[in-house]
Amino acid sequence: MIGQAKMALDISAIRRGLRKWYRMHQRDLPWRRTTDPYRIWISEIMLQQTRVAAVIPYYERFLTLFPDVPALASAPEQELLAAWAGLGYYSRARNLQKAARAIVKLPHFPREYEALLELPGVGDYTAAAVASIAFGKPHAVLDGNVLRVLSRMLAEHGDIKSQVVRARLRQVAGTLLDRKRPGEFNQAVMELGATICLPKRPLCPDCPVRPHCQARRQGIENQLPLAGGRSSAAQREKHLLLIEKGGKILLWQRPADSPRLAGFWELPEREQIPGAKMRGQAAGFRHTIVNTTYLVQVQRAVLPAHPPGFRWVDQGSLGSVPISTIAKKALILIAQTAREQP
Ligand code: SF4
Repeated sequence: MIGQAKMALDISAIRRGLRKWYRMHQRDLPWRRTTDPYRIWISEIMLQQTRVAAVIPYYERFLTLFPDVPALASAPEQELLAAWAGLGYYSRARNLQKAARAIVKLPHFPREYEALLELPGVGDYTAAAVASIAFGKPHAVLDGNVLRVLSRMLAEHGDIKSQVVRARLRQVAGTLLDRKRPGEFNQAVMELGATICLPKRPLCPDCPVRPHCQARRQGIENQLPLAGGRSSAAQREKHLLLIEKGGKILLWQRPADSPRLAGFWELPEREQIPGAKMRGQAAGFRHTIVNTTYLVQVQRAVLPAHPPGFRWVDQGSLGSVPISTIAKKALILIAQTAREQP
C-alpha cells in the first residue's frame, strides 16, 4: 500500500499524468462532444454491457428519433424497442422511458447524484457518471475498467468481486478523484482501462501512470486483478423455424407480461408448431445471453395450416418492428447465404 505522505505526492502526479494523457489520446466519441445530460445519460445506459463500437450507430439513431426527454417520454413502446433492438438487455430501454416520464414532471434534469439514483435503471455507476460528466459533481465512478486500473496500481491481491475489496477500491477512487474536474478525471481513468490497461496484456510502456503502478513495478500486471467465482456459460440448443409465404414470414410476439423481451417478435420454435414439415437447414450459429450460450439451428419449414397465435409479417417491414436479437441474427445470416448462392 502506498504510504500516506507519498500518496499525497502521488495523487497530484497521477491526476496530472492522466489529464495530460487523456487530453492528447482520448477517442473522439459522440457523447464526448456534448454536455447535455440527456445525451450523456443515454450513452451511459447504452454502454452498460455493450461495446463502444456497437453503441455508436445506435446512439446516433436513437437521438435522431428521440432528441430530448419529452420525445423519449412520449415515444410509442414499439418504436422505442425497435430503436433498441440489437443492443440487448431491453429492460434498459423500458427503464429509460420510465425515467424520462419521471423527469418531465421535474423542473429540470436531476443534477445531484442522489436525485439521479432515484431514476429507474440508474445505479451507482450511472448516477456518478452523469453527475460528474454533465454537472461537474465530485463523484468517482467505479466500473470494470476503473476496478482493473486501480487494482493494478495498488497491486491489490484481493478478489475484485468481493464487497470488501470493492469498498477499498471505491475509497481509493474517491481519494484520487480530481475534484476540480471530476468528469474529465472519471473519463480518463475509464479510457485508460479501455485502451491501455487492457484485461490481457496491458500496454504499460504507453501508460501515463506507469511510474505509480505497483503491479508494473512488481511485474505482476498480467496476473491482476483477481476475480474468482467466474462460471463458464451453460449451453442450450434452440430449434427455430423459417416459414415463408409470398414475401411474408411467420412470427409470434412475446406477450406484454413476458419476463424477457416483452413485446418482441420471434421466429417460431419447433416445439410450438409440431405439425410443421421440415425442408432443410437454413442457418446455424451460437448466441450468448448472460451465462447461457444457445446453439441455434434454423430449419426451413412449411405448414399444413395457419397455427393460432402466429402472424404473417411482411419481410419489407421487419425493420420497423422490434425483433429479438436471435431472430434478427438468423434472418441476416439466411439473407447473406441466399446472396452468396449462385
Ligand atoms: Fe495498467 Fe500497466 Fe498502467 Fe499499471 S502501468 S496501470 S498495469 S497499463
